[in-house]
Amino acid sequence: MASTEPITGRCYCGGITLSADSAPEVVSYCHCSDCRRVSGAPVAAFAGFRDGAVRFDPDPGPPVSHAPGVMRWFCRSCGSPLAATYDYLPGQVYVPLGLIDQAAALPPSLHSHAESRLPWLHLDDDLPQQAQSARDALRGR
Ligand SMILES: [Zn+2]
Ligand SMILES: [Zn+2]
Repeated sequence: MASTEPITGRCYCGGITLSADSAPEVVSYCHCSDCRRVSGAPVAAFAGFRDGAVRFDPDPGPPVSHAPGVMRWFCRSCGSPLAATYDYLPGQVYVPLGLIDQAAALPPSLHSHAESRLPWLHLDDDLPQQAQSARDALRGR
């Protein structure tokens, strides 16, 4: 993904900032019910970075896990989701696109779990849709 700008962002309260020195490997919508609940939105969008590319300041502390193989970090002050890792997506860390200052320049390239899209949500794009997990596409395979 072509972007030379450094990536910056923050949680809702601003207590935690993030930065990345490389562009995300992939940006995707996710329509699954877990992402809906974590984000509170009808569809979530995430930027997937190479593991280690994203720094949080201050350190958000230990993650929580409520699903096998999934770890999530939240701001302890405002509750914003900050990052997630998935055992089935090794080597990547996923940051909610809405946290990122440069989100306008980072359009998603696919829909994950399109089969779970809320029926009243209409998105007028020609992006590829993966009915379920887009894990291979997300990992660039
Ligand atoms: Zn916060
Ligand atoms: Zn999801």
